[in-house]
Amino acid sequence: MLRALGLLGLGAAVMAFILVSALVPFRRIWRGDAWAANGLPSLFGRVEARNYLAYLMWIVPGAGGLLLVCVVGFFATLFGVDNLAEDLRALMMVGVILFLAAWPLTLVHVFVNATGRPKFLVPPPYRDQPGEIGAWRQRRARRRAGLPPTDHVVETMELPDEDGRPWLMASCTEPQCDWCADVDSDLSYADAEDALRKEAGKHTTRVAGHIRRPLAEA
Ligand SMILES: [Zn+2]
Repeated sequence: MLRALGLLGLGAAVMAFILVSALVPFRRIWRGDAWAANGLPSLFGRVEARNYLAYLMWIVPGAGGLLLVCVVGFFATLFGVDNLAEDLRALMMVGVILFLAAWPLTLVHVFVNATGRPKFLVPPPYRDQPGEIGAWRQRRARRRAGLPPTDHVVETMELPDEDGRPWLMASCTEPQCDWCADVDSDLSYADAEDALRKEAGKHTTRVAGHIRRPLAEA
């Protein structure tokens, strides 16, 4: 019984954690802070600012439903199912229904992610952004026109390496883009800068001219 209680307690804690971490960034994302959507795992397509509402539509009932099941299950194990109040049993059913309802809603997430539609499910600051399919078409059209695939702004940054010497890397400033590059540490500073700009030119048409020094700026 202790083991079952432990597992149910752990399940409830994990679900509560997932719920809170999904809901907390929502206000910032809705107001235009796309970085707040980074780093969240998803089973159904990337979680990005533009598909965040569609993500919440399944993660909230899914995790919330399981949370209810775990909590009521915990008390049922502790006191016996027959001793549970009627209301608690009803709550268990609500949990099961929510959890089951979450599955078809994952399709909404997949659809919004792919198409960027319907617009009312996309937070306002991102409504002009294409879905995955539109973005793929844009990249293809750019490549056909002999351009790099994106027009993201890429910045070159100077950071200290392990020995504290200045070391350069380039990274994309677009919140949902993982692109970054570094170069052989044997190169001179000027050559490294050239090599990075050249590398960035394969990703985008907009390579920033300056070098950022985040540590000095902080
Ligand atoms: Zn990029």
